[in-house]
Amino acid sequence: MSLAHLLLRHAQQTPERAAIFNGTTLHASHGQWAARSAALAQRMQAAGLVPGDRVVLFMRNHPRYLEVLWAAWWAGLVVVPVNAKLHAREVEWIIDNAQATWAFVTRDVAPERLAGLAQQIDVEAPHADALLAPLPDTAALAPVDRQPEDLAWLFYTSGTTGRPKGVMLTHRNLMTMGLTYFVDVDTVSPTDAIVYGAPMSHGAGIYSIPHLMAGARHVVPASGGVDPAELFELGLALGPLSTFAAPTIVKRLVDHAEETGLSPNDAALSFKTIVYGGAPMYGADIARALQVMGPRFVQIYGQGETPMVGTALSRTHLTDVAHPRYRERMASVGVAQTPVQLRVSDARGVELPVGDIGEVLIKGDSVMAGYWRNPDATASAIRDGWLFTGDVGCLDADGFLTLKDRSKDLIISGGSNIYPREVEEVLLTAAGVTEVAVVGAPDPEWGEVVVAFVVAQPGAGVTTHSLDQHCLERIARFKRPKRYVLVDSLPKNNYGKVLKTELRAQLAGPQKASTA
Ligand code: AMP
Repeated sequence: MSLAHLLLRHAQQTPERAAIFNGTTLHASHGQWAARSAALAQRMQAAGLVPGDRVVLFMRNHPRYLEVLWAAWWAGLVVVPVNAKLHAREVEWIIDNAQATWAFVTRDVAPERLAGLAQQIDVEAPHADALLAPLPDTAALAPVDRQPEDLAWLFYTSGTTGRPKGVMLTHRNLMTMGLTYFVDVDTVSPTDAIVYGAPMSHGAGIYSIPHLMAGARHVVPASGGVDPAELFELGLALGPLSTFAAPTIVKRLVDHAEETGLSPNDAALSFKTIVYGGAPMYGADIARALQVMGPRFVQIYGQGETPMVGTALSRTHLTDVAHPRYRERMASVGVAQTPVQLRVSDARGVELPVGDIGEVLIKGDSVMAGYWRNPDATASAIRDGWLFTGDVGCLDADGFLTLKDRSKDLIISGGSNIYPREVEEVLLTAAGVTEVAVVGAPDPEWGEVVVAFVVAQPGAGVTTHSLDQHCLERIARFKRPKRYVLVDSLPKNNYGKVLKTELRAQLAGPQKASTA
């Protein structure tokens, strides 16, 4: 059994049914989708790719994303989804680490050839049409059989060590995630549709699995991204849509509804369900969202290591205003999703009593097989079958989890994770820079923004502009500091460790450090 069988099944049962839309234009029926994916799988096999080989997807959201994804699974390959905002050098590092030989790209994202590849295919070039065109014997090509523990998705997550780690997700992990959607998130029928606004390389993309399971339609906005007006219009044209959105995107949708004077009933014509997660949603924001757009929200909490499956705060929880603990529940991330056990523990993994704050641990069939070729990191993340998430929170007596903080130093800006260490390492390579500390500062639009405190050699000519240029050439734009603060020294404790709490307090306090 492989994820490819999900597509085969619908291609056999409902080959004519509309499956993938490019904006409002039909891109493929189930039958066409399966035929193209199988044809590409056949050509990849003919070119020498064997089950377990890695192929990179470095693309903006595009209807071909789904065809390539299922082609890879049809051939028993492992997909390495890469955030379209990454710098070419970061992608080349991933290609090398994953030992991937093929990459599928969109030209806007990868205008040049990436190093280390045998094949780089621009999915929008005419050549790609030929690769996806069925051959006379394509219909007879069955998906390569896979075991539940075989890898399907090798997802690179930025690590505290500064280099991303490959999260190994298996067919079982993703099947579990898909089936769980129907129990803990939403029902899906064949007349429903999912729209991909958030990047398909992340959670939004793997929600294609439950929607394919249910035979629903898949809609990729023509813009390939998040334009609230476009999303509302697509919903009106194709029927109410479901989508996954980070809190920043939810905010933009709500702003749009409010600015254009839409009522909750109007919003219901465009959206069936908006699943949000990936970063904290503030109580006031979800209250406003419910008021403006009506009861169409579900919150999930998870992480790359247990994708989309951790806890859920259901539509019922979010609308049960009469419940005596409604306020507390709104501020929580909900209860454990069906296939997982969840506990809050101390640093040794010992379960803490209700109400105590500790690290969140998750166990179940959604939890990754480990980090790619990194047994040390795997051993510290998974102990006795429990995933140590690095998130800190507490459980109440009803099983609702409230997140307090992250034990990692992670910054979440606009739903994207940024690890300070990664940015610090880049800044430290700039001429004249001696010390750097990167922290997140609260921001009403982005949730958090990246701020870099920099100590430079006197007279070295280090400026905000030179630092920004340095980052532009080396890391993804979204990871660049939005602000630089040039300081004479960094606050440190007795062991010489930089006191980031003090820096954060400086940013929050009344007398802000002067910006260069
Ligand atoms: P990622 O691995 O990119 O999916 O990021 C996962 C991290 O995002 C988690 O470990 C949490 O710190 C954070 N996160 C995910 N979902 C939520 C949520 N619903 N509320 C608050 N933080 C969240």
